[in-house]
Amino acid sequence: MSNTKDINIKDVISIAKFRNKNINKNKIVSAYEYASFMHKDQKRKSGEAYIIHPLNVAYILAGLGLDTTTICAAILHDVVEDTDATYEDINNKFGKDVAELVEGVTKLSILFKTVEERQAENYKKMFIAMEKDIRVIILKLADRLHNVRTLEYLKRDRQIAISRETIELYVPIAHKLGMYDMKMKLQDGAFKYLYPEDYKNIKTELKERLYENLTYLEKTRKRIILELNRQRIFANVKIETKHLFNIYKKIIEKNIKLNEIKDLFSIKIVTKGKAECYRILGILNTIYNIIPGSFKDYIATPRNNMYQAIHEILLGENRSYV
Ligand code: MN
Repeated sequence: MSNTKDINIKDVISIAKFRNKNINKNKIVSAYEYASFMHKDQKRKSGEAYIIHPLNVAYILAGLGLDTTTICAAILHDVVEDTDATYEDINNKFGKDVAELVEGVTKLSILFKTVEERQAENYKKMFIAMEKDIRVIILKLADRLHNVRTLEYLKRDRQIAISRETIELYVPIAHKLGMYDMKMKLQDGAFKYLYPEDYKNIKTELKERLYENLTYLEKTRKRIILELNRQRIFANVKIETKHLFNIYKKIIEKNIKLNEIKDLFSIKIVTKGKAECYRILGILNTIYNIIPGSFKDYIATPRNNMYQAIHEILLGENRSYV
């Protein structure tokens, strides 16, 4: 798991531009200059300059392809709560959209601080905010992700409280929004502090398994790429590792060992549209044999949160699953 990276404003802008062509670079830079000035005397528990935190939050959101307003609001998200800046200041300098987002996040933060234990209440407020502007919630999720990643500097009881709240409140919201990657990162981040021993053991063993299987996985990946190229289908073919918390859950729920889990590693293929998905499915089922009963088509019938994909387990060349 990565901790706070050394992110600067240039990194934020370059990933933002890469993911979203309409980014307003100058506006982001001026939000950064203002936020660094306002936070200049503050430090995080890690001893780093405070601005590192909003920058990391902005970086996470830029990586998701969010717009200029959200990225500016991410950089400014703690300015009203933690410095002398007011809603009016943000409104005058960066406009109403940014100011409202910052205000939304500030309100949520204050509310959570006072009623940390009252989960149901939190939920309700979270959904009200979500209806107004979904970006408030996405920003809050990114804020929590960076906070979970930097828990090592807090006391043990705070680590546990924040991790628990992350699993109970933030993870279900990320799930509802269909933000799987965010959900997994939040989950694994919290898992590390809730069950440190299990986390460490699973992480180490998973690394060993990956090392053992890497050649085979790479070979399979290359074969699929070759086959897709021959059929002129453009797709991104990746090796995926099952997330630590999901491995832990499976071990506990099914009372099995890590090496009995069949889908520790998988090949994920991302392509443009439905037609491509089904063509790829046809190709894969021609090269490999499918394990009966493993086929799940979430494209024909998407999950409640709009998740769309096809899952299947194929029998690879040597015993393994694809
Ligand atoms: Mn924050």
